[in-house]
Amino acid sequence: MNYDVLVIGAGFAGAVTAGELARRGGKRVLVLERRDHVGGNAYDCLDEQGVLIHRYGPHIFHTQNKRVYDYLSQYTKWLDYQHEVVASIPDGQGGRLEMPVPFNLTSLEIAFGPEKAAQLERKLIDTYGAEKKVTILELRENADPEIAALADYVYDHVFVKYTMKQWGQTPEEIDPATTARVPVFLSRDCRYFQDPYQGMPEQGYTPLFEAILDHPGITVELGRDALERVKLEDGQILLDGEVFRSPVIYTGAADELFGCRFGRLPYRTLDFKFESHKGPYYQSHGTVNYTMDEEFTRITEFKRLTGQTRPQSVTTIMKEYSRAYTGAAEETPYYAIINENNNALYAKYRGEAERFSNLHLLGRLAEYKYYNMDAIAARALELADTLLSRG
Ligand code: FAD
Ligand code: UDP
Repeated sequence: MNYDVLVIGAGFAGAVTAGELARRGGKRVLVLERRDHVGGNAYDCLDEQGVLIHRYGPHIFHTQNKRVYDYLSQYTKWLDYQHEVVASIPDGQGGRLEMPVPFNLTSLEIAFGPEKAAQLERKLIDTYGAEKKVTILELRENADPEIAALADYVYDHVFVKYTMKQWGQTPEEIDPATTARVPVFLSRDCRYFQDPYQGMPEQGYTPLFEAILDHPGITVELGRDALERVKLEDGQILLDGEVFRSPVIYTGAADELFGCRFGRLPYRTLDFKFESHKGPYYQSHGTVNYTMDEEFTRITEFKRLTGQTRPQSVTTIMKEYSRAYTGAAEETPYYAIINENNNALYAKYRGEAERFSNLHLLGRLAEYKYYNMDAIAARALELADTLLSRG
């Protein structure tokens, strides 16, 4: 069979591009995925208890991008789910407090009591404005002693230990855009995201991917590393030993594509520990962050994310442990560690990729970026636009 396009990886980047090129462009697309399933890190499935779980970490869809929302809505209905997260913090008396994250005006009351919180609230709103988001690093620059003390409190109780667990580095050492994802929010809105479109795919993510890829022009082959079949030589891409001149969309790790010849791109990987517990629910929210203690960063309870009511007698939770990615076969590179050195290393791989005129690097791994699902879907739609405009 001759193909017009080769796509490597069947996550959001690969699936959306393949779906668009097949449907809008009538292209014959071959999708090669090394896992035994589609969906990339957004993959979900039923566990032994019959609970729908996210195997590679909790995925909540949220976007401001109407094009992405409308595009995905062709393939799924949505369950209205507005994600809320709390930090679980020891209260100093043997119990624990739960404080909304992002730290907001409700968190302020829990931390400081109503009177002090009201006074701090006035000062914060006079300084930054109501409903404003202020990053923790920005808040820490404020010279006012009361705001500085509050910034220290939030830094100590929400950011520093969690960030050390997640990245092995302090909030000052990591890319400022990372902690800016979870700003201090001068509001009583306790949602984690304020995007106008948010929710969970009604039947789960995997059926959404299956629907996108369900087209006569698309062939999906699972369970084998594409780099066993695809070779890059002298500015040409070979598929099964034959020169492939049509577009190749690669969504795997950029360093792996070139045999890690300049050294491995650094990543954080995660170990997920799944547990079944008796009872309808285990915790108060879909995600509870452990910002002061414990080795794991957060616990996710899937029934709370997905709105599943069955099974009633059991619930599944997942603890996330972060550590350095070593490149071992059983590890997954989850989070690119964005900094100047690593970006420079990535630029070398991108430079290599640019020597192949039909090669397109797309996605969280291939672009070495901290993209959410909607950002990747948007980029995939744009790449499809570009390729289709070329005929
Ligand atoms: P991936 O999903 O990683 O897909 C790449 C695919 O390529 C994989 O299936 C991989 O097996 C395959 N592949 C790689 N190399 C090869 C090869 N050589 N041959 C064949 N196949 C190959 N985003 C949100 O919007 N909301 C969230 O709540 C959210 N939560 C997250 C939680 C965690 C723990 C993590 C790690 C990420 C989260 N994200 C979230 C981000 C989201 O996972 C990504 O935006 C999205 O998965 C990126 O899609 P992708 O296609 O670029 O990459
Ligand atoms: N963060 C933190 N404490 C929290 C939540 C987040 O310190 O309770 C910091 C941490 O550095 C984390 C970053 O903010 O890596 C981004 O958090 P987000 O929840 O967006 O991470 P993700 O869901 O992508 O893992």
